[in-house]
Amino acid sequence: MAKYVYDFTEGNKDLKDLLGGKGANLAEMTNLGLPVPPGFTITSQACRHYLAEGAVPDGLEAEVAEHLGALESAMGRKLGQADDPLLVSVRSGAKFSMPGMMETVLNIGLNDESVHGLAKQAGGNDRFAWDSYRRLIQMFGKTVQGIDGELFEHALESLKGSRQDTDLSAEELQGLVETYKGIVREQTGKDFPSDPREQMRLAVMAVFDSWNAPRAILYRRQERIPADLGTAVNIVAMVFGNLGEDSGTGVAFTRDPGSGQQGIYGDYLQNAQGEDVVAGIRNTIPLQELERIDGNSFDELMQIMEKLENHYRDLCDIEFTIERGKLWMLQTRVGKRTAAAAFRIATQLVDQGLITLDEAVGRVSGDQLAQLMFPRFAADGDRKLITKGMNASPGAAVGKAVFSSERAVELAAAGEDVILVRRETNPDDLSGMIAARGVLTSRGGKTSHAAVVARGMGKTCVCGAEELEVFTGERRFTAPGGVTVGEGDVISIDGSTGEVFLGEVPVVDSAVVEYFEGNAPDDELVRAVDRLMRHADEVRRLGVRANADTPEDSARAVRFGAEGIGLCRTEHMFLGDRRQLVEDLVLAGDADERQAALDALEPLQKADFTGIFEAMDGRPVTIRLIDPPLHEFLPDLVNLSIKVATGDASDKDRTLLAAVKRLHEQNPMLGLRGVRLGLVIPGLFAMQVRAIADAARAVPGAKPEIMIPLVAAVQELEAVREEAVAILKEAGVDALIGTMIETPRAALTAGQVAEAAQFFSFGTNDLTQMTWGFSRDDVEAAFFSRYLEMGIFGVSPFETLDRDGVGRLVKIAAEEGRKTKPDLKLGICGEHGGDPDSVHFCHEAGLDYVSCSPFRIPVARLEAGRAALTGDSSDTR
Ligand code: PEP
Ligand code: MG
Repeated sequence: MAKYVYDFTEGNKDLKDLLGGKGANLAEMTNLGLPVPPGFTITSQACRHYLAEGAVPDGLEAEVAEHLGALESAMGRKLGQADDPLLVSVRSGAKFSMPGMMETVLNIGLNDESVHGLAKQAGGNDRFAWDSYRRLIQMFGKTVQGIDGELFEHALESLKGSRQDTDLSAEELQGLVETYKGIVREQTGKDFPSDPREQMRLAVMAVFDSWNAPRAILYRRQERIPADLGTAVNIVAMVFGNLGEDSGTGVAFTRDPGSGQQGIYGDYLQNAQGEDVVAGIRNTIPLQELERIDGNSFDELMQIMEKLENHYRDLCDIEFTIERGKLWMLQTRVGKRTAAAAFRIATQLVDQGLITLDEAVGRVSGDQLAQLMFPRFAADGDRKLITKGMNASPGAAVGKAVFSSERAVELAAAGEDVILVRRETNPDDLSGMIAARGVLTSRGGKTSHAAVVARGMGKTCVCGAEELEVFTGERRFTAPGGVTVGEGDVISIDGSTGEVFLGEVPVVDSAVVEYFEGNAPDDELVRAVDRLMRHADEVRRLGVRANADTPEDSARAVRFGAEGIGLCRTEHMFLGDRRQLVEDLVLAGDADERQAALDALEPLQKADFTGIFEAMDGRPVTIRLIDPPLHEFLPDLVNLSIKVATGDASDKDRTLLAAVKRLHEQNPMLGLRGVRLGLVIPGLFAMQVRAIADAARAVPGAKPEIMIPLVAAVQELEAVREEAVAILKEAGVDALIGTMIETPRAALTAGQVAEAAQFFSFGTNDLTQMTWGFSRDDVEAAFFSRYLEMGIFGVSPFETLDRDGVGRLVKIAAEEGRKTKPDLKLGICGEHGGDPDSVHFCHEAGLDYVSCSPFRIPVARLEAGRAALTGDSSDTR
């Protein structure tokens, strides 16, 4: 029978699948001999069973009872025992951290009797005991019984009046407990459960249920965390940070998660209970000040942090509590960090001899690199600084101020850039944070909810800008100097410096982009990126090419590390002024007209290719013969019809309308495109091949590769190939001739197609379109958000390659193609070529190269390196 409960002494950090991150790390710390309150973990397997079956698995209750018994003996107290109670917390903890998204209930075990025992334990501190009891009812009522939290808040507020929480007396808190119990009775029709074991049982199920809370679902989708993992539940003996001035609670990082700098980073809150810090409700003090308040605990904490960093060989974040001068570790994990910190820390750890360069490359991701390539604010220029907060998550964001998540979502949907401004954020603000370009808060430290979540998302965030007064209801904030900013006013926030500006500040390229451009400023980040990129290049097996169709893009691609061009879309060369020539070609009434159009196009094409060959300086250039969806090159049917109908039209217009009607397609994406067009319009592909051959002759060392689009049958390819080979031969130019694999039929008959191809390049945009039957132009806007909500897929298949379907076709084609032609070269040039997960897939599928837009090339290089090192798509969450 499955084991559903693990004591902290039984687990370890590698059991995250089962024990969740929190449970696995609590076990690890316990076994390192660190001061962790005793406890045990109910596995995520039990949660999955509960969510699937609607009931906990058989045997779970007995196992929990047994572990609780062991905990009680270790503590020498029984759960909720009247005269000397053991209290426990029930804490969620999934495999991947989901800060604040799921539930936790503290102080389980309190009731009308044990509250007196707790007071006695606390040295006769009645006030503390009643405060703990009212917190239990409030938390339990809200999260376990589903009562509107406002009801409790309201009762507390009206009792307090203008006073602080800490001004309430024991008697008043006792009265509040009665009021709270009344609320529970009124809302649920039952009394607050006084049986400690029943409290625990219900709290465990509530934590299980919170896996499917809407905000948790939204967070998982955003972070691409699988929906079916479930959460583990930790039952931990309570320790109290709110027992007086010699107690407190805090969070700390072993290095600065914002910059990667070594040092002491954290926040401390005296006389407070756990969640108060993370919620950012009260302003914390810097961790350094703990040295003055409680030197012994501070020293012990520093030693533990060093031990943890050396043990995990990475930045750790921790939560701790001090109960009357005794330090307790409540959590640790490898900490989230900004992209810049990730690169710096990885190389620092190499220099410290803690990790290898291989491991360092595994510690950074393409997504992080892409974030570093974001623009930042220009240093000079007009800037009106209104305040400075904490630099919680880097980047430069400009947008209209909004004061609620709803407005953020609304305006963003209408295409506006917005900055979400809040006093502090809480997990309910997630949708607004996703919609906004950046987040600004007036309260809370670098470890507040806003900061942690924004960093995780790579969203620009400035938090704790205390000089700002935020009036959420009035939709405005004020800043020093009489500045008032209302909804819709534009502000700019710099998440790297914490600065907040009025109005729009111009943005410039990132230092990392300048590095790739060859104008590297010499700083630690650039050196770290350089070192890890070089190593990724050394270890990667996949080649990296660019999708580029101008000499400028080609040159940039080379600077960014492209080893060739994997896709030059020639139809892009026929836009603008040349559109007329294509129109003339398509609508040509006879061979002469057609030839005239081709003759006009040929020198232009030759010049295009010459420029690209020069820019690529001897690197291979894959030129795809023209693949225009016809409608993009013809006059608009509706406009033309109106012109004719209203009598505004010339004779030419009338002839044109007839031709456009004749060629009109209901589904242009499935119509006369690609190789089909080349076969139907005589001379079109031949003109292009001649232009390629002439250009190649004009540029010494040029390496053209000719690629035929949208092939579905080898016969199509053979026809084009025959003509192309003859032209190349006559010109005395060598060029590979290959095909795109964009139709399921081409993939399924790849063994035959390979007979006529020297290379395949997977056009996974079309292949995805045709495999799913999804129109590329329509579905994403029409219904993908609904599909994502329904969990039909976790990410758009146009963004990340669908391994099960499209990926299977790629593998079949690769395998069968190479069976026919063992040296068949294989690449990918759909958008997926620059997507991290898809790059890993291409590595695993044995492709030779990926091709992507110039700006994604560094991402592809890095991920190709990571794929070679890990062999799978390991992530950096
Ligand atoms: C593709 O279909 O993946 C491709 C690269 O071609 P295009 O996007 O131009 O159709
Ligand atoms: Mg295509």
